[in-house]
Amino acid sequence: MSLEQFLQHRLHERQQQSLYRQRRRLQTAQGPRVEIDGAEVLAFSSNDYLGLANHPEVKQAFIEAAEKYGVGSGASHLVSGHSTEHHALEEELAEFTGRDRTLLFSSGYMANLGVLTALVGKGDYVYEDKLNHASLLDAGLLSGARFQRYLHNDMDSLQNYLLKAESGHKLIVTDGVFSMDGDIAPLKELAELAQRNDAWLMVDDAHGFGVMGFNGGGSAEQLHVDQQQLPILVGTLGKAFGTFGAFVAGSDDLIENLIQFARSYIYTTALPPAVAAASRKSLALIQQEDWRREKLHRHIQYFRAEAHLLGLDLMDSHTAIQPVVIGDSVRTQLVGNHLLQRGLLVGMIRPPTVPEGTARLRITLSAEHSREDIDRLLEGLKKVRHA
Ligand SMILES: *Cc1c(COP(=O)(O)O)cnc(C)c1O
Repeated sequence: MSLEQFLQHRLHERQQQSLYRQRRRLQTAQGPRVEIDGAEVLAFSSNDYLGLANHPEVKQAFIEAAEKYGVGSGASHLVSGHSTEHHALEEELAEFTGRDRTLLFSSGYMANLGVLTALVGKGDYVYEDKLNHASLLDAGLLSGARFQRYLHNDMDSLQNYLLKAESGHKLIVTDGVFSMDGDIAPLKELAELAQRNDAWLMVDDAHGFGVMGFNGGGSAEQLHVDQQQLPILVGTLGKAFGTFGAFVAGSDDLIENLIQFARSYIYTTALPPAVAAASRKSLALIQQEDWRREKLHRHIQYFRAEAHLLGLDLMDSHTAIQPVVIGDSVRTQLVGNHLLQRGLLVGMIRPPTVPEGTARLRITLSAEHSREDIDRLLEGLKKVRHA
C-alpha cells in the first residue's frame, strides 16, 4: 500500500465511524460571545473558567513584557532562555501553592511527559486512573515502567494492583479534576493509600488550579493535602489562568531532579517571557478577585438546579465542567449542531477522547457568563431535547 492509499484509507475509516475531527475558525478573542466560522455564538466550550484569557490587565502585562523582552525567549532554560519573568513566576507559584519550589514547563502535556519519564522507568510501576488525561497516559507508556490503569476513582481497584507489585518504584498518577467528567479525585484517600503502600503520588490539576479551593489553589487546597501527602503537583496555565504553559510544584529535590532529568524541560525553547509576565498578572487577579470564583460557583449551582428541573441527566460534577452524556457519536454531533444553529457553542466530545458509548456534550461555565447566558443555554437544551 502506498503512503497516499494508507492516508486516504484511514481518513475514510474515521469518517465512517463518525469520529472525523474538524476545526472551526475562531475569529475573536475567547469569551462568552465569540465569532466562529462567521457566526456569532454564545460559547460554553472553553477552559477559560475565570475569564482571564482576554482580561485587559493580563493583556497589558503581556504587551509591556513584550516591549521589554521581545517575543521569543531565544533558547532553552538551561542555555540562556530562563528570564527574570520565568523565575519570578516560579517563586510566586511556589508561594501560592504552599510548595517549596516550582518549575515552569512549556505546556501541561510536556510537564507530564517530563515528570513521568524523569522519575520512573523500566522495572518501576505506574498506576493511572482509567479516565486520566491523554498526556498522562502517553507519559506513562513512554516512561517504560510497567503500566496499570485502575478503575475510575476506585481505591479498592488501585489497592489490588499495588499489592501485586514486586520490587521497583511505584507511582500513582491521577487528574485532580477529570477533564471530560468534571468530578474530582479523592486526594486524601489516594495520599493515604500511597503512604501505606510505599508509593509516590502525582496529581495533574489542570482543571482545578485557579478555580478550586478557597484561594484558587486547586484540588489540593480544597481537599487539604500538603506537599508531604502530595509530593508531585502539576498545574497548567492555559485553562483558568487564561495564558499558556504549566508548572510542577514540590520539594527542592524534586525540582532539581526535573531540571537535571526531564527531557521535555531540557530540550525545548523556554516560553516567551511575556507569557510568564501575563501569567503573573493572572495569578495576582486570581488572588485579588475572589468574586470570579464565587460567581462561577453560583453559576454551577444554578445550572445544575435548573437542568435538573428540565430532567437533564447530568454527571456528578460540581466543577465548571458539566457534561451531558448522549452516548452515540452521531447523535452527539446532531445535538451539538442543533445547538450551534441556535447560536450556542458547546464541546462535542467523542471517542477516543472519552470511552466508547459515552460521547457527550461538554458544557463549560465561566465567571464571564451572565445568569441570562445560562438561561439561554438551558432554553436551548430544552428545545433540542424535545426535537
Ligand atoms: C489540558 C490538560 C493538559 C494539557 O495541558 P496543556 O498545557 O494544554 O498542554 C494536561 N492534563 C490535563 C488533565 C488537561 O486537561
